[in-house]
Amino acid sequence: MPLLEVRDLTVEFPTRRGVLRALDRISFTIEAGEVLGVVGESGAGKSLTGVAIVGLLERPGRIAGGEVLLDGLRIDNLPAEKLRRIRGRRIGMIFQDPLTTLNPLYTIGRQLTETMQTHLGLPDAEARRRALGWLDRVGIPAAAQRIDAYPHEFSGGQRQRVVIALALCAEPALVIADEPTTALDVSIQAQIITLLKELTRDHGTAVMLITHDMGVIAETADRVAVMYAGRVAEIGPVADVIRHAAHPYTEGLMASIPSLEHRVERLRQIDGSMPRLDAVPSGCRFHPRCPRAFARCANEQPDLLAAGATSAACWLHAHG
Ligand code: SF4
Repeated sequence: MPLLEVRDLTVEFPTRRGVLRALDRISFTIEAGEVLGVVGESGAGKSLTGVAIVGLLERPGRIAGGEVLLDGLRIDNLPAEKLRRIRGRRIGMIFQDPLTTLNPLYTIGRQLTETMQTHLGLPDAEARRRALGWLDRVGIPAAAQRIDAYPHEFSGGQRQRVVIALALCAEPALVIADEPTTALDVSIQAQIITLLKELTRDHGTAVMLITHDMGVIAETADRVAVMYAGRVAEIGPVADVIRHAAHPYTEGLMASIPSLEHRVERLRQIDGSMPRLDAVPSGCRFHPRCPRAFARCANEQPDLLAAGATSAACWLHAHG
């Protein structure tokens, strides 16, 4: 049984001019010990998928269909309080903005130890010992001297590392990390990525790694889901998606992977731009930009179809 199973997840935003469908029947799984990368342009629905899984959609956004299962149990329909407890103990979250996660009034040592005491029931001294260990592992220099400092006494990059320690210290089964390393410099990025990989290997932690940086995915993930306009365009093992992309959108995206010598920050833009939510094209959402579109593409929306070692939502892979 996969650790996380997302089935046909649909998220809608009602507006005065009608209902916008921001996620349209998203499905994927993550096994224990696996890193699933989720990649796509901004606005494709990557972050929204993470937020919807943990039940933190901002109103008026709502889950309009589908299911989210953790260890085989549905969590999308739980009462808020129950879900909050699961978020703390079973799911660790690393969001882009550390200030939304850290409490400015408490020292970081207190935030770490309280988290571990709440979720792991550790005695004071042990919690403090582990808090120091976590600060060390995420690369906070002189952790023993900094543990009693407040969030504002750390630089932005260090705060992000504290957030990562906070998300991991309760030893969650699943970590959802949204651009966890984007604000960090390259050597710290590598350190955090190594840490996430160690966790998956040593503790069987599952990681959903959301990023626009295909280079980070290539180094870290086992499988990758490519999102486009609120849909999964392609999903499969990283090496296969990179070398034998089956969806024309993924092909364009992969042409943009930064080589180590010429690291570039952003994905290369494919001609045209992703449609706005209030102007989603009929049929395949990619058809107005697709160099290989044919008649069926404008009329019928493809679901994921087997395409070699990956699955792609593309009519080129329909047989019959
Ligand atoms: Fe292109 Fe058609 Fe495939 Fe969509 S379904 S990606 S338009 S070939």
